Amino acid sequence: MVELERRDVVERRRAVRIGSLTIGDRRPAVVAGPCSVEPGYVDQAVDIAEAGVDALRAGVFKPRTHPDSFQGMGLDALPLLAEARRRTGLPLISEVLCSDDAEALADHADGYQVGARNMQNYRLLEALGDIGRPVILKRGFSATIDEWIAASEYIRRRGNDDVVLCERGIRTFETRTRNTLDVSAVVVARELTDLPVIVDPSHAAGKREWVPALARAALAVGADGLLVEAHPAPPMAWSDAAQTIDLQSLADLVEATRHASCDCPGLRSYH
Ligand code: PEP
Ligand code: MN
Repeated sequence: MVELERRDVVERRRAVRIGSLTIGDRRPAVVAGPCSVEPGYVDQAVDIAEAGVDALRAGVFKPRTHPDSFQGMGLDALPLLAEARRRTGLPLISEVLCSDDAEALADHADGYQVGARNMQNYRLLEALGDIGRPVILKRGFSATIDEWIAASEYIRRRGNDDVVLCERGIRTFETRTRNTLDVSAVVVARELTDLPVIVDPSHAAGKREWVPALARAALAVGADGLLVEAHPAPPMAWSDAAQTIDLQSLADLVEATRHASCDCPGLRSYH
């Protein structure tokens, strides 16, 4: 295995700006919204903004495991994104599956998300490096921490250092949870890179009742933020309803971040 160059994190942690949001600042950021954009997205986004979040998530192009599942509204969602941004004033993050998606979202998204299924889509990562807009890079289901960081280098080698790593649970022998949240990845990735590391507790848990506890675990280990699926009426969400939290739970999480810091308590430098 090629040894990754260790970016020096002790002196220099990188903060990534996504519109008005800075991830990697002192207070953990909260990015939230439904899994996918639905016809009622604008009102949902306004409600989600009122919960105090820092940015909106909005899935337009959905990488669903089965082709019969809802694939996202696609281009029909664009006017809703524009209106949601206008009404809330919040930055918006949306997933891209290919560089055409990035072009389609160019005027509507402040940051791009690369999903777990595309973490090793190197041509996509290079294209996003060339575009230069901030990228949230999810960890692949079965990717090691080194593979995840190496993937981030495909974006950075093209001159785009605005990358946020996102731990979203990995595949293990455990089947009760949708994925196993690897909280240690937050600590290790923050040691190996200068990039901010956020956590998506929703795709790890798979069940809304478990999301707040996993989110708090992420905050306890010093995560730079949370990416959470939330909806005013969770059971009605068009995708990932079972893991989607309601607005009260979201507001409680926002409150929890106000008492958290992006440095793990007790963490000392041994270098
Ligand atoms: C999502 O954020 O809705 C998503 C598809 O996540 P992941 O790529 O982590 O499965
Ligand atoms: Mn989802």
